[in-house]
Amino acid sequence: GEFTLRKVREHVWEIPQEGEMRVPARILASEALLEEISDDKTLQQLRNTTHLPGIHRHALCMPDGHQGYGFPVGGVAGIDAENGCISPGAVGYDINCGVRMMKTDLTYDDVRGHEEELVEALFEAVPSGLGGGGIVEGGNAVEEALERGVDWALEEGWAVESDLTHCEDEGRRPDADPSAVSQKAKDRGRNQVGSLGSGNHFLEVQRVTDVFDGAIGDAYGLSEDQIVVLIHCGSRGLGHQVCNDYLREIEKTHEGLLSQLPDRELAAAPAGSQLAEEYYGAMCACINFAWVNRQLIMHRTREVFADVFDRPWEEMGMDLLYDVAHNIAKKEVHEVGVDAEGRPVADADAVDRVERELYVHRKGATRAFPAGRPEVPEAYRDVGQPVIIPGSMGAGSYVLCGGTDSMDLTFGSTAHGAGRLMSRTKAKQEYWGGDVQDDLRTQEVYVKAQSGATIAEEAPGVYKDVDEVVRVSDELGIGSKVARTFPVCNIKG
Ligand code: 5GP
Ligand code: MN
Ligand code: MN
Repeated sequence: GEFTLRKVREHVWEIPQEGEMRVPARILASEALLEEISDDKTLQQLRNTTHLPGIHRHALCMPDGHQGYGFPVGGVAGIDAENGCISPGAVGYDINCGVRMMKTDLTYDDVRGHEEELVEALFEAVPSGLGGGGIVEGGNAVEEALERGVDWALEEGWAVESDLTHCEDEGRRPDADPSAVSQKAKDRGRNQVGSLGSGNHFLEVQRVTDVFDGAIGDAYGLSEDQIVVLIHCGSRGLGHQVCNDYLREIEKTHEGLLSQLPDRELAAAPAGSQLAEEYYGAMCACINFAWVNRQLIMHRTREVFADVFDRPWEEMGMDLLYDVAHNIAKKEVHEVGVDAEGRPVADADAVDRVERELYVHRKGATRAFPAGRPEVPEAYRDVGQPVIIPGSMGAGSYVLCGGTDSMDLTFGSTAHGAGRLMSRTKAKQEYWGGDVQDDLRTQEVYVKAQSGATIAEEAPGVYKDVDEVVRVSDELGIGSKVARTFPVCNIKG
């Protein structure tokens, strides 16, 4: 491509600072992964992001990165929360899209022979697709979910205490402001509380095939042959509407800032402005909504397992391992380098290091805090937080542990998946849903989806090599390998 990248060291590439760039940009990738983004807009988008006021250190692209709306999917930007800005496009449309993993005491042998029954029962019980309704409809569900998150689900009997203690922020974002969420957005969420949605979102029963780190595996309660459940979904139409609402408002109100940026899609509200505060409050409310969404689906899954295996779910060890958000911005305190005037600069140019509160934007990127950070739930504080990285319905997925070098390299972040390689349009030309489904069956993976087109769009071949993404994360020390899983059955929206 047109970019001269400087190799900083193994797996670290830099777009040097020049022109209006406020800091350099960095891509964390192997040569093979870098090659896959050389022809799309990923590098240009990452470079554009370095124009945002208040951006600290580097704009970063994780190993699974690819082009997105304004900012790459797989992008991380730490932007000063006092003197910088917040950018909805750098959070993404599906606010708090994320994954959670639930453990069980079952082994693969317990489930074999029940796959078909299980996949049918899950498909029946968990609303999916575009018009599928929600697990809870009517009443004040949307407002309660926005305001109180999983606290509300607990009160309604859709959660147990330990679900809260194994979720970021105990499933309730303190800065949530439901009054900053438009009526239109709330209406769109009305019949979507507890629903997977479509396309890339899924519920997958998996078996653990490898445990790479026995000590951390024990701390997480993971062992070989164990059955686990992975749930991937976000804030549905509600979050999408909030992103859209604020992008339009910010474009109108903060034209001055917008005119300094190379891409309209990066529209940002200056820190301290009313729109920055409102967007942050609305986004935090959407975070709560998505947590409730995944919580309801997980609890429904427990009921399905109880039915299929004819035992109370409480006796099957169906505990939440962890829930990670991969589309959010969060206020976090990080140590950053500054110049003599206290302005953000690349580490190499810093004359001093200070603690600053940042809006850490992670779009298609996962927080990967190491041991010791107070944000990590008590159960994992001595080892580091679990990081969950889905692969595809025909490949492995991973559980990693927040790496000791993540604070220095990536504002405590790593990848969020294998990352898409092929557009949906191209995928539908390349694959036929029925064939993909048959092919997966030969690997003993049972898939059920709303349509064949969905299966084609999500065929394993549309994603990059998750093993390679995880290898880079592990070798960089930003997220370290703990366990690998393989799909048993999967429902797709
Ligand atoms: P995204 O949030 O960007 O849509 O997707 C996150 C990641 O999920 C993708 O990069 C891909 O690696 C992974 N993924 C997509 N579909 C499936 C699936 O059906 N099963 C599993 N295990 N992973 C998937
Ligand atoms: Mn999503
Ligand atoms: Mn996602």
